[in-house]
Order: sequence, then C-alpha cells, then structure tokens
Amino acid sequence: MSQPASSTAVPSPLSVDDYRARIAELVPAAPVVLRPLAECLGLVLGEDLVSSVAMPPFDNSAMDGYAVRAADVAGAGRHAAVALPVPVDIPAGRTDIVALLPGTAHRIMTGAPVPPGADAIVKVEDTDGGEQRVAVRAPVAPGTHIRRAGEDVAEGATVLRAGTVLSSAQLGLAAAIGRAGLPVHRPARVLVLSTGSELVEPGNPLLHGQIYESNSVLLAAAVREIGAAPTVLRFVPDDVAAFHAAIAEHAADADLLITSGGVSAGAYEVVKDALSGQGVEFLRVAMQPGGPQGSGRFGSLPVVTLPGNPVSTALSFELFLRPALLAAMGHQAVDRPTARATTTEELRSPIGKRQYRRGQRDGSNVTPVGGPGSHLLASFAASDCLIVVPEDETMIPAGAEVDVVLLR
Ligand code: AMP
Ligand code: MG
Repeated sequence: MSQPASSTAVPSPLSVDDYRARIAELVPAAPVVLRPLAECLGLVLGEDLVSSVAMPPFDNSAMDGYAVRAADVAGAGRHAAVALPVPVDIPAGRTDIVALLPGTAHRIMTGAPVPPGADAIVKVEDTDGGEQRVAVRAPVAPGTHIRRAGEDVAEGATVLRAGTVLSSAQLGLAAAIGRAGLPVHRPARVLVLSTGSELVEPGNPLLHGQIYESNSVLLAAAVREIGAAPTVLRFVPDDVAAFHAAIAEHAADADLLITSGGVSAGAYEVVKDALSGQGVEFLRVAMQPGGPQGSGRFGSLPVVTLPGNPVSTALSFELFLRPALLAAMGHQAVDRPTARATTTEELRSPIGKRQYRRGQRDGSNVTPVGGPGSHLLASFAASDCLIVVPEDETMIPAGAEVDVVLLR
C-alpha cells in the first residue's frame, strides 16, 4: 500500500494553465441586474434586447424642405418653377397631424413627421425657400427623402444579443428604442487589500527602509479597467488581527478579495499567517515572476492572494484574475490577443517555469524591456507586451520567434 505524501514534502508547482483554471472556478458569476444606461458602459448585456417600438417610429423627413405630392411637382425644372402655397409648417417635434391637400406644400424640417397625403420631400436647396408660397425648381420621385417607419428597427425585433459588450453605439441604440436602463452583469465587487508595514502613502516623505505603496493603486486600476468595482484597503499592517479586522469590516459587500504581499517564504508573511488553514491554500505556480500564490475561500469569500513584488502582482492579475473576472461578468472574449514575434535579444529562463518577460513590439520584432526581475515596475510600465518563454526552454537566441501577449 502506498503511503500518503508526507505533509512536509514540498508539493510540485502547479502549471500556469491549471492555476488559471482554478481561479476561473473560484470567482463567482456576477448576477444580472438592471442598471441605468449611464452606468452600463463596458458591461455585458445580460438578456437579449427586444425593441418594443419601431425606429423610426413614424415616416419622417430626411431633409429640410417641403413635403409635396410628387405628381404636383412633376413638371418642375431649373427654369420652370412650380409655385405651391405653403399653408402648414412642420418643425421637428410637431405632434399634431395635418394632412397635405393636393396642390399645396408643407414646409418640413429634418426628423419631422411626413404629413398624410405627401409622398416626397423636395429639399430646400431645390426651392426658393418661401414661407407662404414656395417655388419648386426640381421634380422628385415618390418616396424621395422619406425615412420610413421601422426602416432601422422593426417593432419586436431583437436589436442586441445577450453577451454583447456595451459601448457607446449600443448604449445609444438602447436609448433610441426608449430604454432608460439595461439588464447587465453587475460589476464584480473586488476588495483590494495591500499589506506591508514598510509601505507609505505616495505624497509623504520616506524614511530609510520604507517604500511607496503602489500595488493597491495598480490593482484597483486594473480592476476598474475591466469594468469591475474595487474597494481598496491600504496599509493593512503585517499583523494578523489587524488583517482579519480589515476583512471582517468589508467582506459582506465583496464578491472577491485580492491581497498583495505577505505570501512568500519569509517571516512576517501576514496573509499566509492569517489565512493558512482557513480555507486558503498557499502554493507555487511554475512561472516567473509570480511563483508564490494562494487562493481559496475564507468563510464564503473567494480570496486570491498575490505576491507583493509589483510586477508579480501585476502579472498575476493579468494572467489569472483578469480572465476570471471578465468571464464572471459575462464576457466571452477574456484573453488578450497574442502574436508571434522575433526577439531582438537572447532570453534566458529557468527550466520548468514559464517566464513572462516584458517587451516592446516593433512590427514583427519584439525587444525585451529590462530583466526578468519582479521588482522592475518601470520596465513593466514601459512595455506593451509580455514575451512568453515556455517551461521547457532555458535559452532562446536572438532572432528566434516567440509568443507575445499584447497588453495594449
Ligand atoms: P512581500 O510579498 O510582502 O514579501 O513583498 C515582496 C516585495 O514587494 C517587497 O519588496 C515589498 O516591499 C514589495 N511590496 C509588497 N507590497 C507592496 C505594495 N503594496 N506596493 C509596493 N511594493 C510592495
Ligand atoms: Mg510584505
């Protein structure tokens, strides 16, 4: 009989892909809620959108001009004006209905309803612009410059499918068919908690040994970039009781907790100390940077604990949380675009780990920016892609093709 693995054995690291799947499982689906249009930008439509109105709702003029019977102006020409009385003026927004009598014209503005009896619009440029009488200088075919009711959207038509990402055009359409709000996947409510007693709020002086806190700023912005809603808890000290207290206060209003720092192998690893044996598993992922990771449920709250080095934090969000949160909020496309590119420099990587180097693309070439270090935030900020060095490669020579993940 084989023995169960000893609890002191170092477990082998999880692959990037397996960990990604684990995090995707962990992040709960966001419910569909009705939201005002002004709060729907970038969110995903939760149900098909069916129009209860036709659009346009009525036949209307596509031009400023005169509503006429085409037959009445059939003989008009540049040197043979047809003069018609203009008993009615129809600005856009006029709601009463006055039929056009044969042998007359109604002055009409763009978007105004075409009167019954009229079958064409003569544009003002083809007339003398008269107010009581008008001289028409060109004939029109029946139907000219009339936008028909329902031409754009028929009543009862499905105008947007569930799963559509809402941008300006879709929100404009929703308003145009009379919707004040839409059913959307609610933005995931993400608690972003950064730990570290060495961290100082930007804008204040630093003592030796202190650094500015940046991970919560980066993570909150990354959360917002994908349409989720961050709440930031900063400057949680490396103290288990303080950590628990900070979570307890906000857990009820969060769908997910993301922490940064305090998960590696040293002492004072507050996140690890506070959450080990509490439903959160700490493990290693076979990647560089960002190896030490943790995830699970603290009570009912899904938790993902990211390593504290800024590039590790950023990359972990990028690889694991970004796709998981997007999927949870109803997005179908959750992956960044990728490309093949030729590296202009040699790349070295530890065996058994997938390395993500920061790069800048230029046409079909990619140039590494900075080294592989997880503290090189300026290099990350200067990059527009990630260069992927596979687990089984230790050296890729300059001039070889590599996979790149396009970040911008
Ligand atoms: P830790 O994972 O807590 O051991 O942190 C690893 C490294 O990342 C240390 O150099 C920390 O000072 C740094 N670090 C951790 N959290 C942050 C943060 N929120 N902002 C900036 N740097 C951080
Ligand atoms: Mg720390």
